[in-house]
Amino acid sequence: MPFRLIEKFIETLSPATMARLARRTPPSVIRRMAAKHFRQTVRWAAARSPFYQRAFAARGLDPAKIRTPADLGDFYTTPDDLVANAEDFICAPPSIVFESSGTTGRNKRVYYSNDELHSIGVSSAVGLAMLGITAEDRIANAFDFNIWIPGMVAHYGCMATGAFSLAFGKVDPIEVYRRLEQYKFTVILGEPTWLIRLTELAEQHGARPLRFLVGSAEEMPPDAVRWMENVWKPARVVMSYGSVEIGGAIGFQPCLQIDGYHMDNVDYLTEILEPDADGYGEIVFTTLGRRVMPLLRYRTRDVARLISEPCPCGSNFPCMSKIRGRRDELIVASGGNLYPLMFQNILEPLPELTHDWQVVFKLEGVREIMEIHVESTNGATADALDPRLRSQITDQYPDLMKNLALGIFQMRLFVHRPGELRVGRKLKRLVDLRFAHADRAALAPGLSDIRS
Ligand SMILES: [Zn+2]
Repeated sequence: MPFRLIEKFIETLSPATMARLARRTPPSVIRRMAAKHFRQTVRWAAARSPFYQRAFAARGLDPAKIRTPADLGDFYTTPDDLVANAEDFICAPPSIVFESSGTTGRNKRVYYSNDELHSIGVSSAVGLAMLGITAEDRIANAFDFNIWIPGMVAHYGCMATGAFSLAFGKVDPIEVYRRLEQYKFTVILGEPTWLIRLTELAEQHGARPLRFLVGSAEEMPPDAVRWMENVWKPARVVMSYGSVEIGGAIGFQPCLQIDGYHMDNVDYLTEILEPDADGYGEIVFTTLGRRVMPLLRYRTRDVARLISEPCPCGSNFPCMSKIRGRRDELIVASGGNLYPLMFQNILEPLPELTHDWQVVFKLEGVREIMEIHVESTNGATADALDPRLRSQITDQYPDLMKNLALGIFQMRLFVHRPGELRVGRKLKRLVDLRFAHADRAALAPGLSDIRS
């Protein structure tokens, strides 16, 4: 049967049936479908989008001859292109626009049609079904309904599951907590820091048994998962990886066996740009179904690696690691190539610290200073914490400790009160003030002494 007929048939199925079918679809079939959709997307975009027409003409690329991402040579779409030229990507009339949270003034804009939003909802529902969420579940959707996308996408996903839901938006967690009993919710969706706050309420005032807490939009601290699952027994805490530009989620956690994500390779073709010796590089994706604003080889700035071994859970969807950091948060310092995840691993074993921290790189003369700013819940002093921090570095990153011991750079620890560091939705983890183009705006508000 031709793919087109198979695809028409699949569209008539329920998300639960699609999830079962998708699990059993041989990888070779998914690869062939992705290759076909890639070629169609390139031709569609090249025929209609001024941005792609200019980019292809400048490189002498003939869209009819593009069969694989590699055929596009050095062409990539960047976040800057979406800030400067978003409307030049549009290939068909949009129904809705989403903007990203931006730090540079102008936001990225991504346009979708009503049909595309519906399709994203169905894909999200298939992902939720793979986790084990069914039409019998009752979902509290506390993702943000701001101008950026997660609340709306999750809402379309909830609607497509057939489950009962309440679209809270990112309200005070107490509002959701108060309604747990009334609506008998079994699933709660929200950002990790929001879910952590909700769990604190439940720990203090009593929890109801839940089936799932689903997070997205930022990384979930690993020790928070164990604690949350204990409070909400028998709940599982799972994460997905998506963004305004991705639309839905490229990565999701349908099984317990991976410390990363299974990848949606039906809706996205994913590549890793400039992988290092361990395979870590920037995640680049091409949308395979979108017709309003197709994204070809879009650079996410997020760094992860693809996992080639099949997952023990038996799913045919390939896996990727957790996000190791933002490409623009990689700091090349005297201590080596430093990513946010390294510091998360170093700070995680110290239980009195909150999940908010920031590391600032400065120069004093020519001497490099690495300032680690943390928040302590029990008033611990820097003198008390410093030896334990150093022992974590010695255990986990001996090369970093070696450079520190050699005096190549200095490390200083600063302890703040809880809540002093966080600013807005995301706290930039690594801030580099060593050079003229330093991003001082990214400094946490509690660090005003460095600001001035
Ligand atoms: Zn798996």
